[in-house]
Amino acid sequence: MITFKNLEKKFGKFHVLKNISLMVQPGKITAIVGPNGSGKTTIIKSILGLVKPDSGDILIDDKSILDKYLYRKNIGYMPQSASFPENLTVQEVIKMIADLRNDIIDIESSLIEILNLIPEMNKQIKNLSGGNKQKLSAYIALIFNPSIIILDEPTAGLDPVASSNLKQRILEERTKGKTIILTSHIMSEIEELADNILFLIDGRIVFDGEVKDLIESSGEQKLEKAIANMMTENANGTYN
Ligand code: ADP
Repeated sequence: MITFKNLEKKFGKFHVLKNISLMVQPGKITAIVGPNGSGKTTIIKSILGLVKPDSGDILIDDKSILDKYLYRKNIGYMPQSASFPENLTVQEVIKMIADLRNDIIDIESSLIEILNLIPEMNKQIKNLSGGNKQKLSAYIALIFNPSIIILDEPTAGLDPVASSNLKQRILEERTKGKTIILTSHIMSEIEELADNILFLIDGRIVFDGEVKDLIESSGEQKLEKAIANMMTENANGTYN
């Protein structure tokens, strides 16, 4: 369980996170949605320890993570666009990360097959397509069996087979009780994958609950329309 307590963050005069309190449940997939600049990445970076909040606390399993780092070993993170050392091969990158983590992995696990990475193993990073870099990034986020998985736009740039296989895999991780956070601009994908939704506008939570409740409360059939309605209402001042 990840808990945020009254988190505040400013970058200079920009108040980016405003009194964020929430609980991210294990065994569920939680999607963070919101317009560009609403604070989604800042929330993710706060969990990763890459952004230090001005006040408030973040707890993982009831322990504060602020100024700590060992907890990060239990997090698998797939950034929106990953960068790896350009001259290393895919296999060398995987080995390097396993060595850094002092972990032993079965490099040829089913994960490498479902992502169709085998033909890429001996290619240098600089020669990989964007989609294959994304697959490597997904592989690294999942292969170490982390209890928390954070995926920033996981299917962006993936071919349909890899995208479908990765989504299936994410759903399997949920059944293992993992805590999964993802962002996506594709609302149908969120409907397909997520149990819960955290909807941010301008650094404030405007909805935190089940995806089905958000859709139901809007009187719409689809998440995309429900979210669009909430954005319009917010622009009209309803949530301010
Ligand atoms: P999102 O991921 O929802 O697009 P972000 O969390 O990246 O939003 O950004 C929220 C706001 O914080 C934006 O206005 C962005 O410009 C600002 N911001 C993010 N990181 C920094 C930073 N390191 N320095 C200054 N402003 C930042």
